[in-house]
Amino acid sequence: MTVLDTFRLDGRVALVTGGNRGIGQAIAIALAQAGADVALLGRTEPAETITVVEKLGRRALVVAADLATAGPAELATAVATAVAGLGRLDVLVNNAGVIRRSAAVTHPAEDWDAVLRVDLDAVFHLSQAAGRVMLDQRHGKIVNVASMLSYQGGVRVPSYTAAKHGVVGLTRALANEWAADGVNVNAIAPGYITTDNTAPLRADADRERAIRERIPAGRWGTPQDLTGAVVFLASDAARYVHGAVLAVDGGWLAR
Ligand code: NAP
Repeated sequence: MTVLDTFRLDGRVALVTGGNRGIGQAIAIALAQAGADVALLGRTEPAETITVVEKLGRRALVVAADLATAGPAELATAVATAVAGLGRLDVLVNNAGVIRRSAAVTHPAEDWDAVLRVDLDAVFHLSQAAGRVMLDQRHGKIVNVASMLSYQGGVRVPSYTAAKHGVVGLTRALANEWAADGVNVNAIAPGYITTDNTAPLRADADRERAIRERIPAGRWGTPQDLTGAVVFLASDAARYVHGAVLAVDGGWLAR
């Protein structure tokens, strides 16, 4: 076995939230390219992702759940559905997320609740349910999707910033508890990536330029730019990586 073999995910099963579009779709496809079967948890039929995963010769399973409304019991059932449908669970990628933009002084309570539920509560409840499976088998990888706003305050996104700071804290907390039992909990922190999430920023020419000019790489990232980091953290190549937050940001944080 060479080091490159340790990045492969043949025979593994990954559960990805929000795999129907954007970053989650790229992650689900990359995990399948690396050899994994993929359970896609979300509220929208991930037809395109299923087609690509199956064309790669991997199995895809849809697990229907709305992270804005599902509580801990429903999310535990969702994890159990993935395990039952694909036979095991090796990787959880907590990717799904929402952002609501408005000034803190008028940020609606319902936006605060909606963002915290999807971006932080669901991450904990899914990690807890998947962690129980992984701890039992003494093997598993959880990859959370953090943000530049896990480090910085951002502008007009107080709920998102709070949730994404929480994701990093939770990543470290779970890593500390589970590392000795063979479960790796880590996060990626994407920089500014061209998805629907950032469409309003790119629609504002001044804001788009200001962001781009601050990125040392000189361009926005693509969902595909993130996939190598996720496959790494989902693989045995990362077996001694615990509680890390890997920025994939074109150098944004270094600046
Ligand atoms: P996106 O294109 O807006 O996709 C968001 C994904 O989350 C979609 O699959 C969406 O499903 C899913 N989702 C949202 N609410 C959900 C709910 N209630 N239940 C189930 N699934 C739900 O955004 P993205 O840029 O790919 O974001 C993916 C992750 O990366 C998020 O955690 C985001 O915070 C993070 N991130 C993004 C950037 C960036 O620059 N784009 C930077 C840092 C971090 P539906 O299609 O059903 O809405």
